Amino acid sequence: MANTSIAPEPTADPVPAVTADSVVREYTRGSTGVLGQNDAPTVRALDGVSMAVTRGDVVGIAGPSGSGKSTLLHLLAGLDVPTRGTVSIDGDDISSLSQRQRARLRLNNVGIVFQRFHLLDALSARANVALPLVEQGESKRDRRKRAETLLESVGLGDRATHKPGQLSGGEQQRVAIARALVTEPALLVADEPTGELDSATGDQVLDLLVDVADEQAVVLASHDQQALAVCDQVIHLQDGTIVRRE
Ligand code: ADP
Repeated sequence: MANTSIAPEPTADPVPAVTADSVVREYTRGSTGVLGQNDAPTVRALDGVSMAVTRGDVVGIAGPSGSGKSTLLHLLAGLDVPTRGTVSIDGDDISSLSQRQRARLRLNNVGIVFQRFHLLDALSARANVALPLVEQGESKRDRRKRAETLLESVGLGDRATHKPGQLSGGEQQRVAIARALVTEPALLVADEPTGELDSATGDQVLDLLVDVADEQAVVLASHDQQALAVCDQVIHLQDGTIVRRE
């Protein structure tokens, strides 16, 4: 029989979940405002950084302390805006948004995993995971269902009612990963996610993170070579510039 199937229309490349274009971030130095003769008035933490991450990609940010990793991560997550250059999250230039619009963009499009988990001690694992959905105005029933599904996906379905203090460090970080993904964001940003964990637990958490964040663009800053081994690409920073991509 003749093949009657029609070739699909070629589709344009999808909009990257996040892009940085010639990004510069300067911090003003000196809390007194009085500068010594030899003081530079500003610290240039990033100096012309360009990168893009699409959904499904895992990109690592490496570099020595002070090289600009946290600054870059904060910009990519929309927590901060560049001094010059452009950061776009899911196609939106974050510098063109008000603080409130940026907070909304973060809520809907970005999940963030911190080194120290940042869970609320008084709430159960399930309530912690459901928090972003409260902000989104989801019904209680939907919140509970989504949170339970996410907890199951990180292997903690049976710990939903436990509080963070009743969980190990690795389990707390898994709850934090579930919370970061509960809104199905385009982008997951993780700042030293294994920094508080022993190396075996850290490895497990990273494997899980990459596995459950299958639909997301993932940006992961780490000192840890083993953590960087899970990345599709690693961007090396030094003194605020990209010195190597591998
Ligand atoms: P990393 O995460 O790689 O350790 P950072 O992004 O924290 O690097 O810092 C990059 C540079 O910017 C460093 O020189 C640091 O001292 C400086 N820096 C970071 N945050 C601030 C700030 N809020 N005010 C002034 N300088 C800062």
